[in-house]
Amino acid sequence: MSGFIVDADTPGLSLGKKENNMGQRCSDTRSISFDDMRVPAANLVGESESGGWMNAMKAFDMSRPNIAAHATGLARAAYEHALQYSSERQTFGKPLHRHQAIQFMLADMKTKIEASRMLTWKSAAEGDAGIRNTESAAHAKRFSSDMAMEVTTDAVQVYGGYGYSEEYPVARLMRGAKVMQIYEGSSQVQRMIIGREITKDL
Ligand SMILES: Cc1cc2nc3c(=O)[nH]c(=O)nc-3n(C[C@H](O)[C@H](O)[C@H](O)COP(=O)(O)OP(=O)(O)OC[C@H]3O[C@@H](n4cnc5c(N)ncnc54)[C@H](O)[C@@H]3O)c2cc1C
Repeated sequence: MSGFIVDADTPGLSLGKKENNMGQRCSDTRSISFDDMRVPAANLVGESESGGWMNAMKAFDMSRPNIAAHATGLARAAYEHALQYSSERQTFGKPLHRHQAIQFMLADMKTKIEASRMLTWKSAAEGDAGIRNTESAAHAKRFSSDMAMEVTTDAVQVYGGYGYSEEYPVARLMRGAKVMQIYEGSSQVQRMIIGREITKDL
C-alpha cells in the first residue's frame, strides 16, 4: 500500500453523498471514488512506495490518544449536565442526587472519566516522548470510547424522560459517543491490538 495526497478537484476523483449519520453531524462522512485518476509520483507520502501501511499504523498511534481525549471530554460534558440536573430535579421530596442509586451512578461516571483521562494522558505522553505507544494508545482509545458510551447512556438515565428528548443536551452526546467505538479502529480491533501486544513475546 502507498499513500498519496491529491487535490480534491483532480479529474477522476468523486465524492459520494453526505451520509445521514446518527451523531457528530457537523462532520461530513462520504465515500470517495477513484476512476482512472492520474497522480504525479511527487504526491507520494513518505520516502518510498509501499510505506503506506506503516505510515497509517504510526498515524493511528498518534490519532488514537486524540479520539480518547475527545471521548473523555464528551463523557465529562454528559456527566456535568447530569450532575447539574440531579440537583435541580426533585423526586420523593429531595433532589435526585440525594437518592443513593443516582449518587452511585454519578460516582461511577466520575471514576470512569478520571480513569479515561489518565489512560489518555499516558498514551499521549509516551507518544510525545517518542516511546512506542501502540499498546497504550489502544488501551486509551478502547477504554475511553466504551466509557463515553456508558457514561452518556447513564446521563440520559439521570435525566429520565427528558434525557430521551433532543430538547436536552445528553441525547446528542449519547449519539455522538457511539461512533467512537467504531472509527479509528473499533473497540474489537483495539482488543486485538492489545492482545497481540501482550502476547507477542510469549
Ligand atoms: C462517522 C464515520 C467517520 C469515518 N471516518 C473515516 C475516515 O476519515 N477515514 C477512514 O478511512 N475511515 C473512516 N470511517 C470508517 C471506519 O473506520 C470504519 O467504519 C471502521 O473501521 C469499521 O469498519 P467497517 O465499517 O468496515 O466495519 P466491519 O469491518 O465490517 O466490522 C463490523 C463489526 O465487526 C467487528 N469486526 C470486524 N472484524 C473483526 C474481527 N476480526 N474480530 C472481531 N470483530 C470484528 C467490528 O469491530 C464491527 O463491530 C468512518 C466511519 C464513520 C462511521
